[in-house]
Amino acid sequence: MGQKILIVEDNELNLKLFGDLLRAHGFETEPVRDGREAVERASAFAPDLVIMDIQLPHISGLELIGQLKQDEALKAIPIIAVTAYAAKGDEERIRAAGAEAYVSKPISLMGFMEAVRSLLPEPATGESAATSE
Ligand code: MN
Repeated sequence: MGQKILIVEDNELNLKLFGDLLRAHGFETEPVRDGREAVERASAFAPDLVIMDIQLPHISGLELIGQLKQDEALKAIPIIAVTAYAAKGDEERIRAAGAEAYVSKPISLMGFMEAVRSLLPEPATGESAATSE
């Protein structure tokens, strides 16, 4: 069974891009389009990693990172923040909120996968992942 990645992203194209890329590398993915559901969905899905878009409607990804990191059951899950508008100081704010890594859009696929691999201790095995479901 592949490692699980929760993807919090309101943009359908990015959600599909991240999902396709991660599944092609053997990960099981769960999309979350509405950030207001992110903490509840993380609790239910128990991901090994969270991809967090920062620019979300209704609630900021920064605030969600803070909420995840304050939750005793969820705080150990590494988070990769993704943001399109990297202004000076953004990376510091994102890291201060508790994200373990940061990738700016437009993402480099190689850089994105390197960030994922750097945070997941074991490589996903495509063979066993293919047999699940
Ligand atoms: Mn967004």
